[in-house]
Amino acid sequence: MRKKYRCIRWLLGDQLNENHSWFGQLDADVLYVIAEHKQEASHTLLHVQKLCGFFAAMLGFAERLQSMGHEVLHLDLDSTVKYSSLEDLICNLVEKYKVQELQYQMPDEHRLRSCFRKLHGELEIVVEECDSEHFMLPFKEIDSFFKRGKHVRMETFYRAMRRKNEILMSGNNPVGERWNFDQENRNKLRESDLGNIPEPLLFSTPVDSILKRLNRHEVEYFGTVKDPLPWPVTREQSLELLDFFCRECLPRFGKYQDSLTGKSKNSWSLFHSRLSFSLNTKLIGPAEVIDRALDSYNKSSHIDLAQIEGFVRQILGWREYMRGIYWANMPEFIEFNWLNASKELPAFFWNGDTKLRCLSEAISQSLDRAYAHHIQRLMVTGNFCLLTGINPDQVDRWYLGIYIDALQWVEVPNTKGMALFADGGLIGTKPYAAGGNYINKMSDYCEDCHYNVKEKVGAKACPLNSLYWAFISQHRKKFENNHRLRMIYGTWDRMTSESQSAILEQAEKYMTEIDSL
Ligand SMILES: Cc1cc2nc3c(=O)[nH]c(=O)nc-3n(C[C@H](O)[C@H](O)[C@H](O)COP(=O)(O)OP(=O)(O)OC[C@H]3O[C@@H](n4cnc5c(N)ncnc54)[C@H](O)[C@@H]3O)c2cc1C
Ligand code: SF4
Repeated sequence: MRKKYRCIRWLLGDQLNENHSWFGQLDADVLYVIAEHKQEASHTLLHVQKLCGFFAAMLGFAERLQSMGHEVLHLDLDSTVKYSSLEDLICNLVEKYKVQELQYQMPDEHRLRSCFRKLHGELEIVVEECDSEHFMLPFKEIDSFFKRGKHVRMETFYRAMRRKNEILMSGNNPVGERWNFDQENRNKLRESDLGNIPEPLLFSTPVDSILKRLNRHEVEYFGTVKDPLPWPVTREQSLELLDFFCRECLPRFGKYQDSLTGKSKNSWSLFHSRLSFSLNTKLIGPAEVIDRALDSYNKSSHIDLAQIEGFVRQILGWREYMRGIYWANMPEFIEFNWLNASKELPAFFWNGDTKLRCLSEAISQSLDRAYAHHIQRLMVTGNFCLLTGINPDQVDRWYLGIYIDALQWVEVPNTKGMALFADGGLIGTKPYAAGGNYINKMSDYCEDCHYNVKEKVGAKACPLNSLYWAFISQHRKKFENNHRLRMIYGTWDRMTSESQSAILEQAEKYMTEIDSL
């Protein structure tokens, strides 16, 4: 390694895109720096698989760049622990290598962007921010779709993105004459479908040395990791997982994307892609994921339009939409608490020890695997936190810490906006609140649960039922004029006052004993 470079190009742990234009040319005067940092690894309590996943992917990426011929400095915790902040570390390296220029890719997290932006004024060298070249909606176009404080319909945005990128379009119309296949995407898994759930493709990256490093530097974490780590941590592995998904899961992805089951050993993965970590670290890009999925759809008679549309909607629609909402509304978004929710997160979120079977399955799986699929996050844990009024900051910390794919730009709008309605309706037109009926419709959990999903009141009544009505009643002022909830208030008003009181008392009882539910 040389003692002096003209330029340092800084890479964050979620900027592992080897197809970025930075890497198109070799320049021996440019030093690429990628660094583990204790402050970044511990600003929220993280799941150990997430820490291992990021550190392994960063090291693999540094080695990859080196093998391409670039000058690379990979710093592990041992070498960075003496720097109290990322800024300190950057300033030290700028001085050490006597560089005249610092370049960085625009961070996806508001806090980190502010941190880098401060360096423009503080360093007496040229500091330049570059595009991460990852998203399908360029950053500078976000404000043409999203305005601060304004609700934007995902569907409107998604259709515009389909047109703009000419995906599943036939001229100006959607292929198949329909923009969405939601009705075909709400199937419950029957016993006879369980055999079709594929054995998930897992990887095996040794993480023993990372674990030793984390322990040596007393980085706090939770959860366990089986050495080796089963998540993809390189581009090759990510592409392998993408091919596996297109072959084994895409033919049934849309149909079962909202279902839940406790009856398969692969209940945790079902037909989901598990590509979110690869996407969010940028090992692979959204456009190439969509291209490969479309290619499979075009070549295979086993993948129908409802399946591919359901998948494209997640990546081109929801993922890009959440990023737009985030940037249009930061930094205020992280402070939102429209429903004034203030309860503590129950202790069972940290051990899965609850008699609510739906929650126990989702939480235990999340603790074991640092992963849950969307409906588990939204309609199981998210719905419970919404109904019971858990403080959004506590819920946010749990989601940000536990999921391997959790990064603030995508986690916060999903958690505080979509799941908790803390944004007052920037994302949804009504809260995603549901009683036990919904879980019973979409899963086979209720048949083996301690509670009875059919009952609202009584020692064994499903807690979600009374909690749902208590939520509806408690927030009447905020929701009764919402036309999408009018029928619900009609149903509530038609109940006798005795029934209403019994339900509210039941909910209150459950709230007082929430930790032992
Ligand atoms: C409360 C809550 C918190 C969430 N936190 C995160 C998070 O921190 N990081 C994250 O990537 N996703 C998050 N999601 C969205 C979604 O649950 C995950 O993207 C998905 O479960 C990842 O698993 P998968 O790759 O198997 O997804 P699949 O079901 O295979 O979907 C394919 C891809 O679509 C994208 N996608 C689907 N839904 C969404 C969505 N609502 N928002 C953004 N992208 C979406 C993801 O990139 C995902 O990889 C959250 C959802 C909720 C309700
Ligand atoms: S009965 Fe209620 S608590 Fe039990 S699994 Fe069904 S919805 Fe969940």
